[in-house]
Amino acid sequence: MSKVWNYYAGPCMLPVEVMEKAQKEFRDFEGTGMGVVELSHRSAEFMKVAKEAEALLRELLNIPSNYRVLFEQGGGRGQFAAIPLNLLPENGHADYFVTGHWSRCAFKECDEHFGKAILHECTFENKDGLYEVDYSKMKVTEGAAYAYMCINETVNGIESFELPDTGDVPLIADMSSDILTRPIDVSKFGAIIFGVQKNVAPAGMTVTIVREDLLGKARKYCPSIMNWSVLDKFESMYNTPCTFSWYMACLNLKWIKSLGGVKEMERRNIAKSKMVYDYLESSDFYRVRIAAKDRSRVNCVFNLKDESLNDEFVAEGKKNGLVGIKGHKVLGGMRASLYNAMPIEGAEVLVDFLKKFAAAHK
Ligand SMILES: *Cc1c(COP(=O)(O)O)cnc(C)c1O
Repeated sequence: MSKVWNYYAGPCMLPVEVMEKAQKEFRDFEGTGMGVVELSHRSAEFMKVAKEAEALLRELLNIPSNYRVLFEQGGGRGQFAAIPLNLLPENGHADYFVTGHWSRCAFKECDEHFGKAILHECTFENKDGLYEVDYSKMKVTEGAAYAYMCINETVNGIESFELPDTGDVPLIADMSSDILTRPIDVSKFGAIIFGVQKNVAPAGMTVTIVREDLLGKARKYCPSIMNWSVLDKFESMYNTPCTFSWYMACLNLKWIKSLGGVKEMERRNIAKSKMVYDYLESSDFYRVRIAAKDRSRVNCVFNLKDESLNDEFVAEGKKNGLVGIKGHKVLGGMRASLYNAMPIEGAEVLVDFLKKFAAAHK
């Protein structure tokens, strides 16, 4: 097997230990003579996996007991619809705090299909030409059903390390790409959604953590499969769940716990991203267009100053075993994702390559 460094933003690399464990038990899960993907989702063996994953997630994120954890399908995009369908009354309105691509997509989904969404542009270009989050723009309007934000903007490389004070208005957050990368205070949120394919498991499953008093408000025409109350009632088995993804999430959560939990993940993610940003900052060959305080610890977005070298940079990276460093198509430039599974060495390898490429093109 050739050795590669995988910087894809999602689906993305998973810990080697997790991949190997899954491989080992793929044909025979715990002596059942069947693989996990062959088990009924209602079998005792799978139910055990499902319950364990929830318990681990609750433990690692310190989820209070008045929150439900739902395991679903439909991805982040599905939740962009599920959120208004579950929380926005027919004649109500919601505030959307937009800091990048994914929060804008969530705003549009609500605005175009489900009701009144109020757009709050919460980033601006500062006098140094850097994009910055403006938390003072994150103000709820009178009577809002909820306020929405995306904590880590995977495409833009912008992460919000502060939270707005929304008072009694529930704050709903998309944490698809930064869940489990640092400790969070779940009690500050009405709901948190995340697709597992950024950082947790293979694509296929989406998780909603929701405060129980927010259940039971769905619109009449909300499809049952998107209705959080229905999913809660059926313990996330209203339809056949994505069993493989759920199982892999369980393995990964065990891995995180064994290393010391989210606090340790945070320490590693700070170390990796600092190494990369410090180099980029020191170089006149590259440029980071995000204010230092708002730079994502898991999606390092940067540009070559000479953009005509982009294709060569990506090709040269690939030749050296660095895969997935091209930026998202809506933004261009480069992006290296350094999720939990990426060892410190992966950041060192990246910096090494950045240096060599810059030296060769001076
Ligand atoms: C990838 C991503 C999404 C979209 O997820 P899908 O599962 O592809 O619908 C939404 N939000 C964030 C923050 C993401 O990174």
